[in-house]
Amino acid sequence: MDIYDDRHRAFLQAFMARSTMTFEESQPVLAAIISAHESRDIAPEDVTQSTLNDFVDTVNGAISTFDLEIRTSRRQDPKDSADDSTTPPILIYALVNTTSDALTQLATTYSADEIAFVKRVLDYMFEENNTRRSEGMIISSMQAMRLSKAGSDRRRSTNVATQQTESGNAQNLTMQQAQEVMKSLTQEGWLEQSRKGNYSLSPRALMELRTWLVSEYNYEDMNGQMQNRIKFCAACKDIITVGQRCDDRNCPGRLHDHCVRNFFRMQQAETCPVCQKGWSGNNYVGERAVVEAARPRHSRLSQAQTVVASPTPTSEAGDPKLSDEEEG
Ligand SMILES: [Zn+2]
Ligand SMILES: [Zn+2]
Repeated sequence: MDIYDDRHRAFLQAFMARSTMTFEESQPVLAAIISAHESRDIAPEDVTQSTLNDFVDTVNGAISTFDLEIRTSRRQDPKDSADDSTTPPILIYALVNTTSDALTQLATTYSADEIAFVKRVLDYMFEENNTRRSEGMIISSMQAMRLSKAGSDRRRSTNVATQQTESGNAQNLTMQQAQEVMKSLTQEGWLEQSRKGNYSLSPRALMELRTWLVSEYNYEDMNGQMQNRIKFCAACKDIITVGQRCDDRNCPGRLHDHCVRNFFRMQQAETCPVCQKGWSGNNYVGERAVVEAARPRHSRLSQAQTVVASPTPTSEAGDPKLSDEEEG
């Protein structure tokens, strides 16, 4: 590994100026840095993946004492990634705080009441809209506006650990304030908005908040049962908020869309990596789960019918959340 020097410092600076970087985006940055350092012209296309890997390794060695790390992840959403579905989505690099707590991170730019609102939004995404029946993990603009009221959250009473950190005296935000917070979280790269208008956590937010999300939403309930609301892809082991789930609702088997293909190519049959039952590929995690859950039962029995007569239950005005009780 290289000794950390001015080249790596410059690279780290470049990283701090943006929330994420791809290999292609790193090429002109590294070309400029190496050119300046070696007093000779290096073209962006001459910067290889292994050059980037070396820089990342050296920088990570230097910044780990400050709880910082450059992490990598792939986009989970196939629509927004490579056109060719046979190639995996582009690798995204992000400089993240490894001890990151979403709420502490926001403390410098947001008020306590705004942070309490963000917590209600996250609770909604990862608890209320992330049930055994439907793992949506998204929130509509309309639902976010509903959460502007401080008392509007239906707190779980099961996670003892978080009850203590709950800010009980948060004030209401106006709808406009709530809207502004959602907008700036999106601009800052924490949230992404889908074509249907639903918000989800960005790849960068997932890289940064992975540890915090697990400690916050995977917990032992009052009956001593583990509630693992945050799940991981059985193939790549990364967090999953968009992808496919096992046909058996009780099974924790999950796979990213882009991991499914490679994974089953290596298997004899398309079976769940956890329980070995058949994998239909018709059960989803993410926005599609909400659409699927909103679809009437009988139409789900016929695939052809489902595809042709696909309604759009999550219109802009719609609420993408379905509770367990609204079955059928
Ligand atoms: Zn995966
Ligand atoms: Zn399974």
